[in-house]
Amino acid sequence: MDTVDCVVIGAGVVGLAIARALALAGREVVVLEAEDAFGTQTSARNSEVIHAGLSYPAGSLKARLCVAGKEALYDYCAQRGVGHRRIGKLIVAADEGDLAGLDHYIAHGRAAGVNDLQLLSRAELAEREPAVCGVAAVFSPSTGIIDSHALMLAYLGDAQNAGATLIVESPVLGGQVTADGIVLRVGGKEPSEVLCRTVINAAGLHAHAVAAAIAGIPRQRIPPVHYAIGRYYTMTGRSPFQHLVYPVSREATLRVHVTLDLAGQCKFGPDLRWIDTVDYRFDDTPEVAAAFYAGIRRYYPELRDGALQPGYTGIRPRLAGPDDPLHSGAADFMIQDAQAHGAPGLVHLFGIESPGLTASLAIGAHVASLV
Ligand SMILES: Cc1cc2nc3c(=O)[nH]c(=O)nc-3n(C[C@H](O)[C@H](O)[C@H](O)COP(=O)(O)OP(=O)(O)OC[C@H]3O[C@@H](n4cnc5c(N)ncnc54)[C@H](O)[C@@H]3O)c2cc1C
Repeated sequence: MDTVDCVVIGAGVVGLAIARALALAGREVVVLEAEDAFGTQTSARNSEVIHAGLSYPAGSLKARLCVAGKEALYDYCAQRGVGHRRIGKLIVAADEGDLAGLDHYIAHGRAAGVNDLQLLSRAELAEREPAVCGVAAVFSPSTGIIDSHALMLAYLGDAQNAGATLIVESPVLGGQVTADGIVLRVGGKEPSEVLCRTVINAAGLHAHAVAAAIAGIPRQRIPPVHYAIGRYYTMTGRSPFQHLVYPVSREATLRVHVTLDLAGQCKFGPDLRWIDTVDYRFDDTPEVAAAFYAGIRRYYPELRDGALQPGYTGIRPRLAGPDDPLHSGAADFMIQDAQAHGAPGLVHLFGIESPGLTASLAIGAHVASLV
């Protein structure tokens, strides 16, 4: 049987950030990826936003790792030439009824350590973003956009330069915690077993299944996972927006965000629908499209009929399900080490939904400090 110091299961942005941190710390690292390339799952199906961290509960892992990760990420992108732009985000109050919501964002952001938020009047909003209709807005200058594939390539390059290896088409099928370490069963073209001192389970949507397939840890420590798909519609033609635009949350209408990519394309979404299995198909029904048009027209009434095209979907691995309060403890990231499950050297990452991309460097540093 082969012996390896550290195995990272999953080559998404989080697994690669962890592999980079461990390799830079001098550890021997092998990344095992089930697909035939890195970064083809959630890390390729998101909004590519560098979040400021203003909507996560103060003190939560999401808030702490997002705020720390954001600054580290801007520095890293500048140093490594990873495409990004600090374009800023506007949270828009479409009418007077939304104004209290803006104060809530400012207070919430401050509590989470986001101290650069600015309240804009109607005139200031119109000056910054003429296409958007609203009575006021909160401006978040530290929100930005990033080329997530270039980021993953940079993480992988750093990890490989420090001696790490990526092996694709190598699904981890199961394993066993033993007195000598953790034995993993690896499938693919040349199935094998490998004995590891450290195993990091960063399998994203499948982290729960991977954890359940490793014998010797208490099953009750594995939290339930709930899948929530998000759909994005793209807009034909030139983007009328310069910033990311988020309407204030309102229960009656779908809250549809404007996201821009580095090429200047504008997309709207994601929405949220609970699903039972990982299935990326885009169900573009007239009802879904109508909800998007209505949600967007609250702040962009000039949206033309027929302007939206189905884009792509992404799936969130959520620890909080439809019946849980949105910001209950169960909605936080869960990074479990031996303290939680009793197996030294084994770390599981559960529920790494947004802001996992923004937080990736901070997650890498955090996990490296655990092992
Ligand atoms: C709709 C949506 C929008 C988002 N928008 C943002 C955003 O704007 N900003 C932000 O910061 N975050 C955002 N996120 C969150 C961010 O995309 C994720 O947190 C991040 O991509 C998770 O990375 P990961 O490496 O954990 O998972 P993944 O990218 O899914 O990687 C996991 C990898 O593990 C592999 N794998 C699975 N099972 C096995 C196995 N048994 N053996 C070996 N390999 C395996 C998979 O093939 C995959 O490559 C968004 C997420 C979604 C769903």
